[in-house]
Amino acid sequence: MILTPHRTVPVLIAGAGPAGLTTAISLARAGVACMVVDRRTERSAHPRATGVSTRTMELLRAWGLDQEIRDVGVDAEWRLWTCETLARAADGSGQEVGYPSHEQSAVVSPTAPACVPQDQLEPILLRHLASLEAAQIRLGASVVGVEQFDGGVQAIVRDAGSGETQVVHARHLVGADGAHSSVRDALGIGMHGPDRLAVGLSALFHAPLWELVGAHRYGIYVVSDPAGAGVFLPAGRGDRWLYAVHAEQLPGGIDELNALTSERIAQRIERGAGAPLRPRVQRFGQVVFAAQLAERFRRGDVFLVGDAAHRTSPRGGTGMNTAIADGRDLGWKLAWTLRGWAAPELLDSYEAERRPLAEHNVTRSARPDGSLAEVGQELRVDLGGRIPHAWTAAGRSTLDLLGDGLTLFTAPDGERRWQAAAAATSAATTHPAPPLAVRALDAVTAAALGVRGDGALLVRPDAQPAGWFPPGDDGDDADSAAQPLHAAVAAATAAERPATSAQSPALAARRA
Ligand SMILES: Cc1cc2nc3c(=O)[nH]c(=O)nc-3n(C[C@H](O)[C@H](O)[C@H](O)COP(=O)(O)OP(=O)(O)OC[C@H]3O[C@@H](n4cnc5c(N)ncnc54)[C@H](O)[C@@H]3O)c2cc1C
Repeated sequence: MILTPHRTVPVLIAGAGPAGLTTAISLARAGVACMVVDRRTERSAHPRATGVSTRTMELLRAWGLDQEIRDVGVDAEWRLWTCETLARAADGSGQEVGYPSHEQSAVVSPTAPACVPQDQLEPILLRHLASLEAAQIRLGASVVGVEQFDGGVQAIVRDAGSGETQVVHARHLVGADGAHSSVRDALGIGMHGPDRLAVGLSALFHAPLWELVGAHRYGIYVVSDPAGAGVFLPAGRGDRWLYAVHAEQLPGGIDELNALTSERIAQRIERGAGAPLRPRVQRFGQVVFAAQLAERFRRGDVFLVGDAAHRTSPRGGTGMNTAIADGRDLGWKLAWTLRGWAAPELLDSYEAERRPLAEHNVTRSARPDGSLAEVGQELRVDLGGRIPHAWTAAGRSTLDLLGDGLTLFTAPDGERRWQAAAAATSAATTHPAPPLAVRALDAVTAAALGVRGDGALLVRPDAQPAGWFPPGDDGDDADSAAQPLHAAVAAATAAERPATSAQSPALAARRA
């Protein structure tokens, strides 16, 4: 049954967590109207994620938010530091968690991973979204019904305060409604994988632990003293910390975990710290570890992003970052199709490109030692096959030169040839197409990108390469460049052949 809509919007997004906010920002920045609804009126005050990956920081940098986000975080290296107590951090040892160090980051990225609590990152995203004209935000409203019809989706949105319902018609619905997604349930999409790998407790507290660890400033501390065994994580400025412990680490197991009080938790924290610090426990709650992947990320015009599509345990700290990367990927692809720049088949590439990366992170988080990972391996997954970062002679990153459309990088020798080829490609396109910007790099930056002679590199807005063009033979002119460029633009916009998993650059990076 299709009801008369009270509202019509191109994209309706259920959930204003990291996945929903990122999807909405990507759409709204591209000028595509969207409505985000979230059943909560206030964001969760529990920090949850604290690890913000290299690629996430690159996305936030592209939106001009990186400094604001870094300002609420703490300066710490992302290593897992094992010690008997925090007071004895100097006797501990470190292991890689898959994030590059400050020095390694400077080689591969214009930014670096950050240590920022999720509860302080989300308001920054929300404020940015609210500043964008194309976005509408409704807090305290839930999606309670979903029905698809030819050419769109009908959702029932219920206001938590008044209980009133509204029918919203959208071209697309995005289920960004978290691990227990009601959108996913409405679509009849199942989850595969364990939903109760472990049960733990996470407590937010304040205590001057930085004074204890001194120069050993890290993102994760594993403390081995049995009376305080657990994990300590910095969770923002002002000596704000998280303490986490598993049921198996307690002599009384799950019964002891269930019986923990603020006082008992404070005692464990003191023992783990190795000093009488009188920690102030602000809040605590249980965390159930799951490692699950949805059977599919899409049904018809409805998409799943973030925890609605995949649930990771906190091991490896990939949940929020995967959610943000999903939102960015789906956001620009929806924007392109809704603006008529790409064929609807472009949307098939969302699951094809995101699923292998999500699967990798889910599998990693299921491993008991999933927090540990080699930097090179995880960086490849996090960067997902994007073009290399290199500083131009003018002091900008190659990643800074990308826009909402396609970018064609050339070396000085090829600029004129590719300007002409781009003009010919645009002239030959009879339907709306994404802008095609030709960027002539200085010779050294071009070499760093692998652009040689009068060759060129075509890049999507998400920094994925969409076509490599080798240097031409002597006498090659713009005509010889126009044909392969035209074909690459057609492929990037799914105008002639849909992107499949076999062609996906993100998948290729995962397989490499
Ligand atoms: C203890 C803990 C530690 C973690 N540590 C890390 C870490 O270090 N690094 C990391 O990357 N990740 C970490 N994570 C995971 C991370 O918190 C999640 O993966 C992330 O929040 C997922 O974002 P999301 O937007 O998909 O979902 P959520 O953040 O769950 O957001 C979903 C939103 O949808 C709303 N909603 C639900 N149903 C409806 C509905 N029907 N209609 C409208 N709105 C609805 C909810 O109110 C919520 O705001 C951790 C998680 C936990 C629990």
